[in-house]
This record gives sequence, C-alpha cells and structure tokens, in this order.
Amino acid sequence: MDDHQLAEPAAAPAAPAAAELASADAPAAAPFLPFALPDIGEEEIAAVVECLRSGWVTTGPTARRFEAAFRDYLGADLQAISVNSATAGLHLALESLGIGPGDEVIVPTLTFTATAEVVRYLGAQPVLVDVDAATLNMDPQAVETAITPRTRAIVPVHYAGMACEMDALLALARRHGLRVVEDAAHAFPTRYRGRLVGTLESDITVFSFYANKTMTTGEGGMVVVRDPELARRIRLMRLHGISQDAFDRYVSKTPAWFYEVVAAGFKYNLTDIAAAIGIEQLRKIDRFLEQRRRLAARYDEALAGLPLVLPPRPEGDSTHAWHLYVVRLKENAPLRRDQLIVRLSELGIGTSVHFIPLHRQPYWRDNCVFDPGRFPVAEAAFDAMLTLPLYTRMRDADQERVIHALHGLLSC
Ligand SMILES: *Cc1c(COP(=O)(O)O)cnc(C)c1O
Repeated sequence: MDDHQLAEPAAAPAAPAAAELASADAPAAAPFLPFALPDIGEEEIAAVVECLRSGWVTTGPTARRFEAAFRDYLGADLQAISVNSATAGLHLALESLGIGPGDEVIVPTLTFTATAEVVRYLGAQPVLVDVDAATLNMDPQAVETAITPRTRAIVPVHYAGMACEMDALLALARRHGLRVVEDAAHAFPTRYRGRLVGTLESDITVFSFYANKTMTTGEGGMVVVRDPELARRIRLMRLHGISQDAFDRYVSKTPAWFYEVVAAGFKYNLTDIAAAIGIEQLRKIDRFLEQRRRLAARYDEALAGLPLVLPPRPEGDSTHAWHLYVVRLKENAPLRRDQLIVRLSELGIGTSVHFIPLHRQPYWRDNCVFDPGRFPVAEAAFDAMLTLPLYTRMRDADQERVIHALHGLLSC
C-alpha cells in the first residue's frame, strides 16, 4: 500500500504521453487525461543540454543561480537552499532546529506521509491533528488541544495550495514557545494576507519540485530560512557535514583536496542538471499560476450546480496556488467517491485522492499516538474527496470533457 501510494503519482504522468502517441494514428480514441502533468518546454531542454555540455553536472554554479533566482522571486531578506526533495528539506529543517528523541511535532493527518516521516527520521514523535472543515488545512484549535510539555514544533501543510491560518498558528507557537516549519509543497506561489508563503514569520519553509507540483525539477525542493545560523546548519547537513562543498573546493585558492567533516550529514544536494530545469520553470511560474487560476475558475463556474463541495476561495489579500483542485461529494450525490473514480476512469479521466489520512495508514496506525475519534473532519472529507485534473497543458477541450463527464454522472 505504501509503495503503491508513492509509485502512483509518479506513474500517472507517463500514461498520457503514451496515449497521445498512440492516438496520433487513431484520432477517434480520446487520450487518457491525467490528473497532473509537468509542463516542460524547449527552454528547459536547452538548459539541461547546456548544463550537460558544461562539464559541471552536480551541485555548482547553476544550483547557486537557481537559489538566487528563487530568493529574488520571494523578494525578502532570506536564504534559499536547494535540496533534492522537499522530504530532504523537511528533514534538514527539523534537524537544524534540534528536534530529537522525546520531542513531539504536530502534523495534520490529511497530508502526504513525508510530512510525518521526517519526524521519525529524527527519533521524535509526530502527533496527528484534524483539519478545518472548510479549508482542510490544519485546525489551530486542534493544534492547541494537542500541545503537551514535550511539543517542540508544528508543521502546517498548505493543503492544495491555500495557506493555513498562519496568524493563529504563529500566535499559538509564540505563546507556547514552539518552532514552525511550513510544508509548502503545494504552495508556490501562494499569498497569505498579501505576503508570499516563504516570507512569513515561521522558522523555515520548504517547497517541493516533484513532478506533479506547480513547478518541477523532476525531483527537488527548496528550503527557505531567515536565521543565518539555521541556514548554516542546513547547508552543512545537506552535504555530508562537510564544511565546504565540492564547487567551493573546485574554485578555491587553497588546496582543493582539503575539507573537514564536522557532522554526520546527509546527501541531499540538488544537481545542476535539475537546477537548470528549475531556473526555466521559475521564469514561467507567473504564467503557470495564471493558467491554473483560469482552469480553477472555469471548474468553479461549470460545477456549481452539481452535488459537490467546491474548493474554498481565499479571502482578501490571500491567494491560491491551485496545485490541486479537490472536490467533495455531498450526501445527496447519486454516486459514492470510489464509484465516481471508476466511472471517470472508464471515460479516460484520471483523478486522485489527496490524501488517505495518515491515521488510516498501517505504519502510522501503529507508530502514532492518537484517538481515532479525534479526526471527524479528515474522516468525512476523505470518504467524499477526489482531485480533478488540473495542469497547465490542459486544453479547454480537455477540461470540457471532465465537466461534461461530471454532469453526466452527478446530475440528480
Ligand atoms: C509532495 C509532497 C511532499 C514531498 O515532496 P518531495 O519533493 O516529493 O519530497 C511533502 N509534503 C506534501 C504535502 C506533499 O504533497
């Protein structure tokens, strides 16, 4: 089950490419619509080729340029540290804060397993909490209830691309002396009350560039941090606990063979090949966002009459990254969620479920302390939810197919 969960999103984008090729000769068969698809253009391909030809393929000048460009995009006085996944970034973030055995870290149950597994890497205990019924984001009230004398940190997940109630969570953290690491895997770019996620008052924010996220480097992530001491620790532990990275040594005036190992670090650096893709994706991110917004608005309008709870709309100066478009079936819908997924799949439409709550997973059932009655919102949401296709290469006709299929299956 765990393997399936991990393999499934990676496998999904492969299907349409094959289907598209096949359908070139057989235009009658509509290609399978995935729920997500990366948007890689000639610019990314050229940048990778250039990197390959340059002779420097691991972490080096291109990763530095990517970090600088990302920091500039956020436009704040902070450091951006590239890593080979958001999972690695979350691990480094909690490690830099000194989280360890005996500590508790509060995590929402409605998230990907990575958010909680990194807590286990450090020998600490994830404590799962329920989400808010309207936004499916971590519920500040549930967080407050879960705080014990052992609680050290909270990890808000900006579900689907809309920010958590950060004012409430940050105030709570301040009041109880807790650290805050934002899992912003879905939230690039997202604004919370006018400010970009990554520039808020939390300790560290981690973004993901996995294949199905709002921008991709194949695999990759970015850790964003203000405190120079935390940044130093994260950079050190990103690469074996070695005090100078390979490129520093390559260009250094002092003898290149000398380095010092000052900790048992990890191997979490992002390659220049991946960073080259990231630089080009970042240049396009505002256009990607506009396209995602348009698709989301079109769904909102076209699905309004169906027995569906549509995604929440951020208020005021807050914005949505529209990484995922998640709908929930209402009680009076003629089909249950599992049936709807099968029927859509028969019509060549891919969907997904974000997420099977962690407290329902075999590992977390056995390795987390919780009372199963404590997740009424996540339980109800999980039973009713599915993620509809939304990606920048989606054409109007593709979306029309999804809308038409839903009207056919759900009109009462
Ligand atoms: C994708 C995802 C991650 C992990 O990102 P990777 O870059 O694949 O490690 C973490 N948290 C959430 C909520 C995610 O959706």
